Amino acid sequence: MSGRILVVDDVATNRLILKAKLSSAYFDVLLAESGEQALAITMAELPDMILLDVMMPEMDGYEVCRILKSRSQTAHIPVIMVTAHNSTEEKIRGLDAGADDFLSKPINDVTLFARVRNLMRVKMMFDELKLREATTQELGLNDLLEGHRFNTDEHGSVLIAAKTPAWAKIWEERIQSRLPVNTIIVNSEEEAIRIANQDTPDVFIVCQNLADGGDGLRLVSNLRANLDTRQSAIILVVEGDEMETASKGLELGASDYIHTPFDPNEMVARLRSQMRRKKYSDKLRSNVRDGLKMAVIDPLTGLYNRRYATQHMQRIIERSGESDLPYAVIMMDLDRFKSVNDTHGHEAGDLVLKEFARRLQENLRGIDLVARLGGEEFLVVMPDTGPSEVEFAAERLRNAIDRTEFEIGDGETIPVTVSIGVAFGGPEDKIPSALIQQADTALYESKSTGRNRVSYFAKAA
Ligand code: GH3
Ligand code: MG
Ligand code: MG
Repeated sequence: MSGRILVVDDVATNRLILKAKLSSAYFDVLLAESGEQALAITMAELPDMILLDVMMPEMDGYEVCRILKSRSQTAHIPVIMVTAHNSTEEKIRGLDAGADDFLSKPINDVTLFARVRNLMRVKMMFDELKLREATTQELGLNDLLEGHRFNTDEHGSVLIAAKTPAWAKIWEERIQSRLPVNTIIVNSEEEAIRIANQDTPDVFIVCQNLADGGDGLRLVSNLRANLDTRQSAIILVVEGDEMETASKGLELGASDYIHTPFDPNEMVARLRSQMRRKKYSDKLRSNVRDGLKMAVIDPLTGLYNRRYATQHMQRIIERSGESDLPYAVIMMDLDRFKSVNDTHGHEAGDLVLKEFARRLQENLRGIDLVARLGGEEFLVVMPDTGPSEVEFAAERLRNAIDRTEFEIGDGETIPVTVSIGVAFGGPEDKIPSALIQQADTALYESKSTGRNRVSYFAKAA
C-alpha cells in the first residue's frame, strides 16, 4: 500500500526524520513548515494523509486541522496530530478539531506504521466512494444529491463487548451522559455477532478480553469479515500500554484503539470521532445508491428512463437470440397533450403523465419493460410476445387510457387518449434504436389516421 503523506512541522529535523521513515516504507512524502503552507499544499496536492505537528508558531495544528475538516475538498483526508506530550487534554482538543489520530514524540515506528496503514485503508475506501459519487454527479444529478459536507451527526448505536458486566455498566452510563447514542452490552463473541446481525451497531467497543473468556481480537476480525458489520467502526480497548496488541488490532481491522486505564473524556472523544466518520461514509454510500437510482429512473413517473431502456432492450434482444422467441416493441404518445397543458396548466399535465404511467404498469406484466423516453413519449418492450398476444395487450393499453377520464385536481376530470405504434423483433434484430424507429413509424401512422388507435409496422418481406 502506498500513498502520499504530507508532513507538517516547523522544525526541520523533525520533518526529515519522518520523511526518512515514511520514504523507507515507500510512501511519497510532501513537506510543509507552517500551518499556512500546509493548507496551501493540501489544497493543491490533495495528499492521502497528513501528519500534523501541534505546536507551531502563528497557526497551530488544531487551527490547521479545523480548517481542513471544514472544507469539503479536504474533510475526508485523515489527519494524525503529532504532540510533544501525551496528555489527554491535547488529545481531546485534537479530536474536537477533527483529528483522526495521535502520535507522541519521540515517534515509535511500530505505532507510526500501524496508525498510518490503518488510516490509509480508510482513506482508500473514502476515495472509492467519492469517486462513485462523482460519477453519479457527472450524470447531471448534482442538485438532486445533497452536498457532501463532512458529517457531524453523532446519533447512533454503540455495542459494548465488555471485560466484565460492571465495567460495561460504568461505560454505558458515561457514554450515554455525553453522547446521543443507544448502547447495548454483550459479554461474549457469539452474542456480539448475533446482535450485530439483527440490528447492526454503528460503533463497536471491543475489550481485548471478554467477560466469558472470549478473545477481543478474534471478534474484531470476525466483525470485519461479516458483511453486515463490515462498515461499522470498531474501537479496541487494549489492556495496559502494550503496543503489540494495539497494532495487531488495527491490522485485523479495528478503526481505533485506546489503552487502559483511560480518561472518560478521551473515550468519548474517540467514540464521537468514529461515529462521525461512520455517518459520513454511510452518507456517501447512500448518495451513490440514490445517484445510481436517479441515473436510470424518471423522477416524475418513477418509470425507467431512456438510458436504462436502451440498455435493457439490448438484454431482451440477446435473450431472444438464445430462446428464439419474438418480442414486441411498443411506442406510445399522448394525443393533443399540449392542449392539456395549455388549457389546465402544467401541473395538471404532470398529474396526467403520472396516472398514465400507473395505468401502463397496471396493465402489463412484471417482465415487460416500461419506460418514459421523454416528454409524453413512452416505450414498452414485451419479451416472449408474438403478434396475436401483442394485439391484445396494445388494445388493452389503449382502452385503459380511453375508458376512464383522468383526474386533474379539485375533482375535475378530462378525457385522455394515446396513439400506439407496434414493431416486432426477433433474433435477427440487433439494434434497439432500429426497432424503436420502426415502432415510431407505426405510431406516426396512428397519429396521421386519426389518433387513439394502434398501428403495426409492416416489415418488408
Ligand atoms: P400529438 O397528438 O400530435 O402528439 O400532439 P401533442 O400536443 O401531444 O404533441 P406535441 O409534441 O406538440 O406536444 C407535447 C407536449 O407535451 C408539449 C409539452 O409541453 C408537453 N410536455 C412534455 N413533457 C412534459 C412534462 O413533463 N410535463 C407536462 N405537464 N407537459 C409536458
Ligand atoms: Mg403527443
Ligand atoms: Mg410529442
